[in-house]
Amino acid sequence: MPAFWVIAEHNADGSLARISAEAATLARSLAAAAGGDSEAAGIVVAADPGHAAEQLAVYLPRVVAVADAAAAGHAWAVLAAERAAAVIGDAPDAVIILGAGPDGRDVAGMLAALGGRGVLVNATGAAWDGRLTVEMSVFGGKLITTSGFTAAGGIVTLRPNTVTAEVGPAAGTVERRSAAGEPSIPLVAVLDQVAEVGAAAPIEEARIIVSGGRGVGSPEGFDLVREIAAELGGAVGATRAAVDSGWVPYSQQIGQTGKIVKPQLYLALGISGAIQHKVGMQTAETIVAVNRDPDSPIAEFADLLVVGDLFEVGRAMLVALRARSG
Ligand SMILES: Cc1cc2nc3c(=O)[nH]c(=O)nc-3n(C[C@H](O)[C@H](O)[C@H](O)COP(=O)(O)OP(=O)(O)OC[C@H]3O[C@@H](n4cnc5c(N)ncnc54)[C@H](O)[C@@H]3O)c2cc1C
Repeated sequence: MPAFWVIAEHNADGSLARISAEAATLARSLAAAAGGDSEAAGIVVAADPGHAAEQLAVYLPRVVAVADAAAAGHAWAVLAAERAAAVIGDAPDAVIILGAGPDGRDVAGMLAALGGRGVLVNATGAAWDGRLTVEMSVFGGKLITTSGFTAAGGIVTLRPNTVTAEVGPAAGTVERRSAAGEPSIPLVAVLDQVAEVGAAAPIEEARIIVSGGRGVGSPEGFDLVREIAAELGGAVGATRAAVDSGWVPYSQQIGQTGKIVKPQLYLALGISGAIQHKVGMQTAETIVAVNRDPDSPIAEFADLLVVGDLFEVGRAMLVALRARSG
C-alpha cells in the first residue's frame, strides 16, 4: 500500500507554512481512505527543522526532521528535493504532496527528475478510490480535469485553500536526522533577501481577499481597500488595470497573467470581471462585488452584487466592521 509523504515548507521564522498543514491533512485522509498499511508522513528539511517538524507532527503520525546546515544561506528547494528523495527512497508507490507555490513547484520538478516520478500540478482536489485521482483546474479555470498516475505513485502539487487544515487524532512522532554527505545537485547561494513592499499577507494563501480595480481610481483610493482588508484580516488583490496604473505592485495582481487564488471570500471593489481576471479568482468560495454598473460582467458570476459607489459602500462596510469588532 502507498505511503503519502508531505515535504513541508516553513516560514522565515522557522514555523510551518500553512499550505503544508493543508497538504498534511490531505495526506492523512488519503492514507485513511487507502487503508491497509498505508501511512501518512512528513519531511522537514531546514538548518533547524525542530519547530516546523513539531508543528507538522500535529497533523501527521510520523515526521522526519532533516537538519542540514547548508539550508542556511542556500536555496531551500534544491536541498529539500535531495534530502527528501533520500528519506523516501525508491518506493515507486509513494505519493508525494507539495504546495503549489514557487518552492513546491521547484521541489516537484527536481524530485521528478531525480526519481523519474510523474507530476500532477495545481490540484484542486484529490481522492482515493482504489487509486489516486487528482482534480486540476486547467485552461485558466475553464475545465476541471480528473487524472491519475499511470505508475503506482507520483508527485502532486496542491493549490492553497483546497483543504482545510485539521489536526490529527494524536500528535505524531518526530524522527531527527542529520543530512548525510554533500548534495549531488549544485547548491544555489542566497545572496540577499528583500521583503516585497505591499506583500504583507501572501495572497495565494489568504482566506479573505479584498481586491480593487480601475474603479478605485487612484493609489490613494487603495487605502480604503487596504483598510477593509486589514479589518477583515485578509490580503489585498488587484486587477491588471490597477497594477498597470501603478497603484498596486504586480505581486498583488490576480488573473491570467497574475496569481490564481482560491480564498473563502473574494470582495471585488470596482472590478468589471473581465475573463482574464475571472480565471484567477472564480474558484473563490464566495464572491461579493461592489460595482456601480449592474450590468458589469462580474454580476454574472458574483454570489452577491452590491450596486453602488465603492467608496460609499466601502466606508459603510468599514464602519459596520469596526462596530462589530468593538
Ligand atoms: C493577455 C491579457 C492578459 C490579461 N491578464 C489579466 C490579469 O491577469 N488580471 C486582470 O485583472 N486583468 C488582466 N487582463 C486585463 C483584462 O482584460 C481587463 O482589462 C482588466 O481585468 C480590467 O480591470 P478592471 O476590472 O479593474 O477595470 P475595468 O474593466 O475598467 O472595470 C472597472 C469597473 O469599475 C466600476 N466602477 C468604476 N468606478 C466605480 C465606483 N466608484 N464604484 C463602484 N464601481 C465602479 C465600473 O463600473 C467597471 O465595472 C489581461 C488582458 C489581456 C489581453
